[in-house]
Amino acid sequence: MCHGGGETTAQTGDIAALESAVTLFRVRRRGVRPAAQLRDRMLRLRHVMDVLELEFAQDAAGLAGCDELEWQGHSSPIQWVKHECRTTASAAIDACDVGAQATRLPESLHALEGGAIGFGHLALLARTAEAITSSETASAFEEAPLLAKAREHSVSRFRHDCEHARHAADQRRFLTDQVDQMEARTLELKPAAGGALFLRGFLDGEGGATLRTALEPLARKAGDDDLRHRDRRLADALVELAGHALDSGALPQSTGERPHLQVTATLDTLRGLDGSPAGELDWCGPIAAETVRRLGCDAAVARVLFDTESAVLDVGRARRVPAAATRRALRARDRGCVWPGCDRPSSSSQAHHLRHWAQGGSTDLDNLVTICRAHHWKVHEGGWRLVRTDQGMVVLPPVPLDVGPSAMPAAGAPPAVTPVIEVPPSVLLDTPWRWAPETPSFPERESPRPGATSTPQARGPDEPSTA
Ligand SMILES: [Zn+2]
Ligand SMILES: [Zn+2]
Repeated sequence: MCHGGGETTAQTGDIAALESAVTLFRVRRRGVRPAAQLRDRMLRLRHVMDVLELEFAQDAAGLAGCDELEWQGHSSPIQWVKHECRTTASAAIDACDVGAQATRLPESLHALEGGAIGFGHLALLARTAEAITSSETASAFEEAPLLAKAREHSVSRFRHDCEHARHAADQRRFLTDQVDQMEARTLELKPAAGGALFLRGFLDGEGGATLRTALEPLARKAGDDDLRHRDRRLADALVELAGHALDSGALPQSTGERPHLQVTATLDTLRGLDGSPAGELDWCGPIAAETVRRLGCDAAVARVLFDTESAVLDVGRARRVPAAATRRALRARDRGCVWPGCDRPSSSSQAHHLRHWAQGGSTDLDNLVTICRAHHWKVHEGGWRLVRTDQGMVVLPPVPLDVGPSAMPAAGAPPAVTPVIEVPPSVLLDTPWRWAPETPSFPERESPRPGATSTPQARGPDEPSTA
């Protein structure tokens, strides 16, 4: 039965007593405590909080049993808990699930009250019980063997135990849920200002595992001076992964060509002359001259001649810079990135001209080094200088922008020549300096994200798990 209001004094008295006890607890004298005492207090506090979470969950179940009017304009009890109790969607779902399944889990409630399991275990038990008992194809839900696993394992590991239990009890529903997850896959790419790209998506379990298996080795730190946060290293790894796919030549052809990045720039731009236009990168738009030079360090370059009316007079054959034989020798000599302290292998590295070919530098081994993508960005857009000395390679920090690497020596009147550069994808971002510290937020969605399934393990990507 549900009462819309008018609680009795006895009903409000117990919560008032708890509030008073918490207030008294919190006004105690604080001081430095030994670690052993802190550990003991934290364990006992966590247990008290778990028991109170159970109380909260049972009240949530009571609210869920009320008329919709009692949710006060929210679409469900979960929404009411999330908004009015100022908690996350994940915590609201846990509370409502535990409250709804409490009568099926008597031994588990007892185990939580005794401190043998935590509330995270109980939430997983509740969702597993709900999934199995609500399926017409499942065998009976058995609390005891699952509770035994909960007593032994961490919440993260117990999540897998629950998945195994669901599979054992109901293979058909388990498969259906995974198919639903697969059907919800999506990847949204939204162009942003300056040729940048927003990404948002959802992958099923296998898709996510495939992506992470490929990304994790590329997302490792590139040496001791690598200050990139993990999310930034993952973003770089995703670009590098795409670069490897392009470099491999294994992607399907489009319009008779292997897919590749294509940059178009004038010689004025390559030389950094004042007044020169930006380069043009397909799928992106205008890019800075320094980026053109980086992409041109290790690329195939073709000349396109224009007449005074901008009509194309001649297109030269693409020339590999540096030549394939030189690249092989370079890789054999340097054996990976030459940046001091960096351990990225040759397979993840590119050729860099110490003096760029657009400034008259040669494409011989003496003027070339192997460098990883992250450090290549650093010596071009980042403004660091890489110098060969008798003691080996030395790096020098950025100099003020007005005398930095973009300040190219003036050249004579350039011919009407436009190089078209076909390059391996090499766009990498690096350390926080000189880079916007804030990632812009994703633009407003025009349609809702395909929903996650209602299975116990299914969460939207924006909802933290209980692990
Ligand atoms: Zn370079
Ligand atoms: Zn490196």
